[in-house]
Amino acid sequence: MKIGILAVQGAFAEHGAVLDAMGIPHGEIRCKEDLQRSFDGIILPGGESTVQGKLLRELELFSPIRQWIEGGMPVLATCAGMILLAQKIEGQDDAYFQTVPITVRRNAYGRQLGSFHTEDECSGAGRVPMTFIRAPYVTQAEKGVSILSTVQGHIVAVRYQNQIALSFHPELDHDYRLHQMFLDLCL
Ligand code: GLN
Repeated sequence: MKIGILAVQGAFAEHGAVLDAMGIPHGEIRCKEDLQRSFDGIILPGGESTVQGKLLRELELFSPIRQWIEGGMPVLATCAGMILLAQKIEGQDDAYFQTVPITVRRNAYGRQLGSFHTEDECSGAGRVPMTFIRAPYVTQAEKGVSILSTVQGHIVAVRYQNQIALSFHPELDHDYRLHQMFLDLCL
């Protein structure tokens, strides 16, 4: 099994470190040529969704990756990655892959509580550590979306078919259960 990690911007190295610790082969996706390799799943890391979206288009990665996702390739998306998957982004006319029928609010926790750490239940993984960094949350989830976790009344983890989207950063905590949940989809 080999996992592709989108590596145009943001916290991609941290996901690579988790996969290394788990003994799972992986490769970075930085340019079109990297798409020639075959992957069993893809990770969309945290970072800045506007920058990632722009680079995905400029590097001509956007359409092929969207096709992979639409074709059923398992995806683990964290933070900015969740924004890339969302069908709608509050306050914006445009969105990115739009493969998960959710609406997200960017930087939803405001400036004061921009970053925080907690621990809560995530369906399928148990009680997990959760690090939020200028995180989005889901303000609306359409039919077919499974809500995996709600923190302080807000949806922070969902699964839709082959896609898992998280508001927080499991790659920053030494707990591999959410990565394992994703890897189980890739088998
Ligand atoms: N605030 C970022 C955005 O809007 C997401 C933050 C993150 O990925 N940690 O894209």
